[in-house]
Amino acid sequence: MVDKKQNNRRNNNRNNSDEDYNPKFRKQRRKVCPLCADKNLVLDYKNPDQLKKFINEKGKILPRRATGACAKHQRDITLAVKRCRHIAMLPYTQN
Ligand SMILES: [Zn+2]
Repeated sequence: MVDKKQNNRRNNNRNNSDEDYNPKFRKQRRKVCPLCADKNLVLDYKNPDQLKKFINEKGKILPRRATGACAKHQRDITLAVKRCRHIAMLPYTQN
């Protein structure tokens, strides 16, 4: 029983990785944190144009998988966006 299960799993893995696999869309490229990459870029909560890159069209803060930011800088982004909202330079929500 155990052997059969393992074989099935192995076959499934092979099928997924070979036939239904399109390297064009699946290839992973290492995302670099935009704030680590550019040392001169400093987040400013009084600069909504800079922070607009980190929110979506509904005004929500984008997750790390979308911004590519590291944990430290994602915290900075979140804080800056929230401050910017508080002084009414960014929307809390839209529509
Ligand atoms: Zn970073």
